[in-house]
Amino acid sequence: MPHDDFPAGSVWLVGAGPGDPDLLTRKAERLIAAADVVFYDALVGPCILDLIAHGAERISVGKRSGRHSKDQRTIDALIVAAALAGKRVVRLKGGDPAIFGRTAEEVTACRAAGVLVRICPGITAASAAVASAGTSLTLRGVARRLTLVTAHAQAGTTLDLDWTALAASDSTLAIYMGRAAAATVAQQLVAAGRSPDTPVLVVVNASLPNERIIRGRLSSLAFLVEAISAHDPAMLIVGEAVEADPAFARAQCTPIRAGVTVA
Ligand code: SAH
Repeated sequence: MPHDDFPAGSVWLVGAGPGDPDLLTRKAERLIAAADVVFYDALVGPCILDLIAHGAERISVGKRSGRHSKDQRTIDALIVAAALAGKRVVRLKGGDPAIFGRTAEEVTACRAAGVLVRICPGITAASAAVASAGTSLTLRGVARRLTLVTAHAQAGTTLDLDWTALAASDSTLAIYMGRAAAATVAQQLVAAGRSPDTPVLVVVNASLPNERIIRGRLSSLAFLVEAISAHDPAMLIVGEAVEADPAFARAQCTPIRAGVTVA
């Protein structure tokens, strides 16, 4: 493994995975330990932050729905400034940096400043969610497409998605940041022709000790997410594939309330 890939004054955007430190890549672990400074998101678990070297700086740029502690331009500027000061910079992000991770902005800012920037991929929340539930994102002959979609509307706007495309019955939807909009998502998908009986899987805190797995149908999605706190990350997975092995999945279920685990 090359150990000369992190020169002083360079930046790595590193995927921290869904939270369980065992789901970090070996490369991510090595880069985190080698960094002089780590800028991390709110969704990066404490056990992963323990891998930062003693004496290295750790700076929370914690972005979480409704609580954006630093805006994106400030984060871009902080990363660039640290690299230009000659530090080895890790920008640690939940899941995979390339999926709803503002990676394009940070890469552009680094390149514009002449800073070497590279990306270390991570396990995305959708993969962790179905793994925990013992199921799959695709299903041979049934779910041939996988759509990663965010249901987070920008401040002051309504959710503007191509509902007709999303309603296609052969597609699994992995919905990020979808808790608050769950009722709208279900209603719009059904209005666009998706069956109300479509299986849904909700996984809260996937891969973490406080993980919860909730199963139901599209018609009950709004109800299924009701008890989830805004502070807990949740993946909504919609589609036939998530019911590929219901008996196994049921055995794995942790109900949040009696009666909502299986529709
Ligand atoms: N880059 C990340 C996604 C960032 S968007 C990735 O690839 O996973 C943040 C959203 O991801 C959260 O609102 C939630 O929908 C989802 N998410 C991230 N970590 C999660 C986890 N451990 N469990 C469930 N959902 C998670």
